[in-house]
Formats: sequence, C-alpha cells, structure tokens
Amino acid sequence: MRPDILNPLFAETETLPGVGTRLARLFASLAGEKVVDLCWHLPSNLIDRRYRPTLDQAEPGHVATLKITVGAHRPGPSARHPYRVDCHDATGELELVFFHAKADYLKRILPSGETRLVSGNLDSFHGRLQMAHPDYVLPPEDEDRLPQVEAIYPLTAGLKPRVVANAAREAVRRAPALPEWLDLAYLKRQGWQSWKASLEKAHHPESRDDLSAQAPARLRLAYDELLANQLALGIIRLNQKKLAGTSKKAPGDLAARATAALPFLLTGAQQAALSEIRADLADDGRMLRLLQGDVGSGKTLVALLAMLDVVETGHQAALMAPTEILARQHFKTIQPLAEAAGVETVILTGRDKGKARQALLQGIENGDARLVIGTHALFQESISFKELGMAVIDEQHRFGVHQRLSLAAKGKGIDTLVMTATPIPRTLLLTSYGDMESSRLTEKPAGRHPVVTRTLPLERLPEVVQAVGRALGSGARVYWLCPLVEESEKVDMAAAEQRYEALQQAFPEQVGLVHGRMKSQDKDAVMLDFAEGRLSILVATTVIEVGVDVPEATVMVIEHAERFGLAQLHQLRGRVGRGAGKSTCLLLYQNPLGEVASERLRILRESDDGFRIAEEDLKLRGAGELLGTRQSGFPEFRLADPAVHGELLLAARDDAGLILQRDAQLETERGKALRILLYLFERDSAVRYLRSG
Ligand code: ADP
Ligand code: MG
Repeated sequence: MRPDILNPLFAETETLPGVGTRLARLFASLAGEKVVDLCWHLPSNLIDRRYRPTLDQAEPGHVATLKITVGAHRPGPSARHPYRVDCHDATGELELVFFHAKADYLKRILPSGETRLVSGNLDSFHGRLQMAHPDYVLPPEDEDRLPQVEAIYPLTAGLKPRVVANAAREAVRRAPALPEWLDLAYLKRQGWQSWKASLEKAHHPESRDDLSAQAPARLRLAYDELLANQLALGIIRLNQKKLAGTSKKAPGDLAARATAALPFLLTGAQQAALSEIRADLADDGRMLRLLQGDVGSGKTLVALLAMLDVVETGHQAALMAPTEILARQHFKTIQPLAEAAGVETVILTGRDKGKARQALLQGIENGDARLVIGTHALFQESISFKELGMAVIDEQHRFGVHQRLSLAAKGKGIDTLVMTATPIPRTLLLTSYGDMESSRLTEKPAGRHPVVTRTLPLERLPEVVQAVGRALGSGARVYWLCPLVEESEKVDMAAAEQRYEALQQAFPEQVGLVHGRMKSQDKDAVMLDFAEGRLSILVATTVIEVGVDVPEATVMVIEHAERFGLAQLHQLRGRVGRGAGKSTCLLLYQNPLGEVASERLRILRESDDGFRIAEEDLKLRGAGELLGTRQSGFPEFRLADPAVHGELLLAARDDAGLILQRDAQLETERGKALRILLYLFERDSAVRYLRSG
C-alpha cells in the first residue's frame, strides 16, 4: 500500500485549484494524470524579469520591468489600428501598444496619472521605446505578484504558458517533505539538498545553468529516479534468485556430437559465451542471461549447444522466435544438428491446426519432444511441457518482459537465455535488466567479408539501378528498402509500390514486394520466394524480419537512409554479408542532410562493430528513441536521461547493491524512507516482494 504521506501527490490533477476536466485532460497528455506528474514536468526555459532600468537606460531587445506613470490613451482610428498608451518616468518615455484591444479593460488596468509596473519585451520603433502587450501590468503595491524569474514549461496545443506554470507551482506546493532516503554522506559530498528543496529549486530556476541536466537540483531528482529503478530491479532479481533453480550440469556429449557435425569451428567468442552459459546452468540458481551479438555472429548455434546440455540432463528445452519465418529458419538450422546428436526436435507455430497440432502438443506434454522451436504460440496456456528446463528467447525486443516471464513460468527453475541482435549499450542494459548477466559475441565467424558501405544522394538512383542490374547478372540477390513513416503511410506506401513497379519493369519477373499491410502468410510466401531464389529483388517497406538468413543476398539498397536510426541501419546492413560473396550496402539519402543524419551515415561507413554503433547511437539520439520506445520495453525515465546521467546510473547501481546487501527487506530507518522512494516513482510491484513493513 502506498504510504499516506504520498497521497497529495497521487491525487488527480483535477484536485488542483482552477483545473477542470478539460485542463486535466490536456495535462494528462502533457505530463500525466496525477499531481506528481506535474512535479516531474520541469521547466525548459525561463524569463528573467530582474532587469529594471530607468527609461533613459533601457535597452530594447530585452525583457524589462519598468515603473512608469500612465499618460494619455490613444485608441486607433479603427479596430484594425493599434491602441496606444503613452507612459513616462522621470527620465524618458515609453509607448504601450495593444492590438484588438478592449478600451474599457485597458482604462481599468492603466488609469491615466497613476503609477504602474509593466513587464514584458522591450522594443524600439522609429527611435521610440515600445512594449507591445506587456506580460504584467500591476499597481506598485502588488509587486510581489510579479515573478522575478518566470519558469517556462514545455506545452502542448491548447495550453497557455501561465496555466501550466500555475498548475506546476501548485503541484510542487502540495509536495510533502519526505524522510531522506539518500546516504547523508553522499548527499553532502554531492552538495545536494533535500528532495523537496530540490524539487522546488528545479521548478524555480534563476539562471540558464539551473535548467541544465547537470544542475544540482536536477541531478538529485535524476539520481532519485535512477536509484528507485535500480533498487526495484535489485529486489525483483533477488526474488528470482530465491526461486530455486536446478543444477543442470551435463557431460556435454550431445553438444560434442552436434559440434562434430559442423563444417566449421566455433569462434572464440562462441566458445566463451557457451562456457558462461554452462556455468550458469551448472549453478543451482536460475539463469537469466542475455546473449548479444550482431546478426550472423552465430548466436543460434551457441543456444543450440546449451539446449543440448539441458536435454542431456533429462529436461526439455524450448526456443521461441518472434515470427513464423524465423522459427522455421531456426528449425532448419537446428534440426539436422540435433538429429546428429540423436535428439528429436519439433516446431510449433500458429499455423499448426487440428490433429497435427494435437499430436505436437502431446509430444511436448509427454516429453517425447526434447527440443521445441516455436513462435509465441508456445506461451499459450493450453501448452504444457513435461519438464521444461530452459527457454531461449530470440530477439527480445519483439517480446515484452511479460511474455518472457510467462514462458519461464511453464516449469520450475527454468533457465532463460535471451538472444538479441540489437546490441544494448551498457547503460541501457543496466536500466532495463539491472545487473542481468550478458555474453557478447564480438567476433564474426571466419571467412566473412566486411560489407562495403557507400552513401549516395537520391539523385543518383539511375546509377544504382544500373549497378543492381549488373549484380543481378552475376547472380546476386538484392534487398531494396523503402522506409515507411507513420505520418504519411499512404504516401510512402505509394512510393514503395512505385519503386516496385519501376524495378519490375527493369527486371521483369524478378521483383517481389512486402509491406506492413500484407497478411503475414502472404508476406512469408514472398520472402520464401526470395530466400529460395525464385525472386532476385525484394522491395520492402517494413523492416525486413530481423534475422532472416539469405546468404545469397549480397546487395542492400536503403532509400531515405536519413530517416532510419543508426542501430536500425546497422541491423539492416546485417542482412547482407552473411555468405561467402562480397557484399555492398548502398545508403541513398535525400539532400539536404542534417547534422545528426550525416553523422550517422559517417559512422556506418566507418564502422561495422554493432557494439560501437550502439554506443554512438545512444549519444546521438538520447536513450528514449534508441530502439523505438514502443517495442523496446525500456523503462521510461521522467527526470534521468541515461545518455546524460551515465555516471549517476553507475552510482545508483552500486548504492542499490549496498542497500540490499545490508537491508534486503528495507526495514531500517533509511530502508523505510527508500520504500517511500519506490512508491514515489511508482515501483509498487517491487515493494510487493518485500515483507510488509
Ligand atoms: P545469429 O543467430 O547470431 O544471427 P546464426 O547463428 O544464425 O547467427 O549464424 C549465422 C550463420 O553463420 C549460420 O548459417 C551459421 O551456420 C553460421 N555460423 C555460425 N557459427 C559459425 C562459425 N563459428 N563459423 C562459420 N559459420 C558459422
Ligand atoms: Mg539468428
């Protein structure tokens, strides 16, 4: 249960004065539904109203606050003309200018002969000082209503700056003082203030420095968020470890037989990863390991050998792929090798129906099927394993964390290996998995040629088509990517269809098209035609299924490469360069090329190392965008930015580790404060693992 002290923060924004249903809805899309969401909505800019010159000293071009005496009102000759009010002080003159003015209102707020404070943007027009529509007009006795420095918040359509500022200010006022959850020595060393003081400070910037992600108040808040994240992951992890695993120490005979059937040797990186996995399996804790490596680095093989170990200890093993076509591809690679080791492998996908499906399910249930490969059909409740010991999950980012757990729930002490071809930078790994173990295949199998990458402006398309023609002549297969951008799906679709038609004309009978609106069966059929050589060019609007293996494909053309992210381009490039032939990747870009886009293309030309590219990507794009937030399953941070606060993240990880070592149930004074922190950042699910305190 959330502690009562936090209740004011978790009230709806509608409980704030002046906020009704309409505003609450706008706030919800801007920041969130709760008061606390407005607390996390920090200013992005400020207006400094401390410049208070006399009129003879006043410099146009600044925001100024001026004390003036109101003179004559001069309405324009018609409504289309501005309404002017002459003003002066002892040193000079100022003209206030209003468009579409209501005379009554102006006479009321600016009575002739009275003194007023006005604050706003100061201009000069034909040598006269002017202020159009001052932001503030106040009698001198109300001076305290004029903010010295006004915080400016990010907005959304329909919201006025002052409305957001007022609501945020009110939200911060509601924030209670909370017991300190940070180590006091650390707090002091960092020069940070309490949570509440930091929150106030972050909402009341006094200079541009205060707006920076490195400002002390913002650092403190970011650290709190990172600590909540690391602590929650630590707690969940401790709990998973407690769920007993079983030791699966195999002699490795089956794996040896499969290896003997290979026409090549394992790379050093594959061997190292396999020993790490074997150590996890032998251990009686539960394995939760990530196997990272570029497309084609040989992850599947490593997973297979580990699965054979598990089978050897009398368990079943399952491998789950995100799509039907990938599942079939895995089956094609794995089945003969497993057979060489004398192990029966089955494949189960959504396409298996009726009696055949029943028979498959029965084999899985009675344990005849030792190795099971499938799609997410494997999660379904109707499927039960006799003794599932290990789950391998390919291409994690297509699955949610939830699905990963649901396969692990199909047995006791199931060891999980997650394979991903999207190298995840260390900082992001930490924020999404905590200290999840990870193995990296940093080495490519021998005999692979690096892909030659060239960048060309789109105007040179005709040359590209000619070059593709030459490549086809020597038997190459070509991927041709046309990106789909959500805003204008129809337009892009038409572009891809047009490209398909044009290429079809140039190379009749040789071109296929796949796009996101096709039924997956039709899509699979076209891709199979390409994989088996009945088509030589595959035009695609959607990202080609991650991991599809067509070793004969040696040319990758990407139109509008500037629209893709770095990691994505690298993945796409990984579709080629998998076979013995030399491969080329042509990145066609639209001029003019922005700075970030040209930097991306430069990195791709220079590097073929997925891990380096992932790190660069993080730097260029900021964490949120990295893998496309929708699929990535990375926690979204409100205050911390792993791309900027990397150091803090490491400190938070260490801090969380120490805390849990000393006080795993969070029962000490500090522990109790930390529970409040977890609730504050809505990590309630982690608190549920703790003894109620
Ligand atoms: P990943 O799953 O990492 O994309 P795969 O396991 O699918 O990579 O391997 C890609 C291709 O490389 C497969 O055809 C596989 O047989 C081959 N391969 C794997 N390991 C090696 C190796 N050590 N030497 C040569 N080829 C290998
Ligand atoms: Mg693979």
